[in-house]
Amino acid sequence: RKGSVIITGASSGLGLATAKSLAESGKWHVIMACRDFLKAEKAAKSVGMAKENYTIMHLDLASLDSVRQFVDNFKRSGRPLDVLVCNAAVYQPTAKEPSFTAEGFELSVGTNHLGHFLLSRLLLDEMKQSDYPSKRLIIVGSITGNTNTLAGNVPPKANLGDLRGLQGGLNGLNTSSMIDGGDFDGAKAYKDSKVCNMLTMQEFHRRYHEDTGITFASLYPGCIATTGLFREHIPLFRLLFPPFQKFITKGYVSEEDAGKRLAQVVSDPSLTKSGVYWSWNKDSASFENQLSEEASDVEKARKVWEVSEKLLGLS
Ligand code: NDP
Repeated sequence: RKGSVIITGASSGLGLATAKSLAESGKWHVIMACRDFLKAEKAAKSVGMAKENYTIMHLDLASLDSVRQFVDNFKRSGRPLDVLVCNAAVYQPTAKEPSFTAEGFELSVGTNHLGHFLLSRLLLDEMKQSDYPSKRLIIVGSITGNTNTLAGNVPPKANLGDLRGLQGGLNGLNTSSMIDGGDFDGAKAYKDSKVCNMLTMQEFHRRYHEDTGITFASLYPGCIATTGLFREHIPLFRLLFPPFQKFITKGYVSEEDAGKRLAQVVSDPSLTKSGVYWSWNKDSASFENQLSEEASDVEKARKVWEVSEKLLGLS
């Protein structure tokens, strides 16, 4: 049978390019988990995806009710779950004030980390039940949460500190809206959320890989300077960022090629190793990359897991 893969945020950018690549392979049925149904439908059509290769299901990661509803709907659809790709993200580099999810968590960490954490925890049982030979849970990471690289050292740097803000619920009222308890900074909140994504992937690996055989992986697909992720940046930045990445840092990758990379992590028979953070070299060959000290801190991973469980009512 065809594989069945859920991709969050498949209505644009990397998620859409990956959906297209997998749908075209003829080996996958893609469940596009998106907050804007019409946008997702138009996006699927615009890249020429054939109707029989995809299903759109509503998911708003900034609402825990919506996450739970999505999981119920998916279970009722009767489809197996072979691979889950946590790809959606918000990035608010120019925001002066924090905004919040339905439950009152700061929006970037609430969406990118907490929404996906609940989603993957609730779907783990579905994956366990699938008879697919190579089951995978993939959480898209980023170099920006990776302080052992040049790009990861552009200030403000990611830093989760002692998690006091996360512990307090990131609500900006009686606690800080930032994980480390500091003042709100939209760019840092995004980077922190990506560190949480990479820590979560490794904690999943430690807790569940041996028993379930599921492959847990993260990746940095390259700098896809043209996606909607930068939609909230100032116009001059949006104009100069793509050529800067193309000609100066040479980290630029097109949406299509980045989609092919993520599609490899979904289905390539050689990328089955669990607990790995994949990256690609100049010749577009995949390799196991090193994570920064914080993004590979075992103790911190356990703490982020436990505090997140508490916030989400999972423990
Ligand atoms: P896009 O902004 O193009 O895509 C993000 C997707 O997330 C959109 O489809 C968006 O939906 C969706 N989304 C946002 N909020 C929610 C929500 N509350 N519920 C459901 N879906 C939501 O950016 P990219 O394609 O660049 O980003 C995809 C991933 O790649 C992210 O995890 C990002 O961190 C990562 N990444 C990107 C890099 C880059 O250079 N662009 C580099 C490294 C990693 P909608 O269409 O409705 O807005």
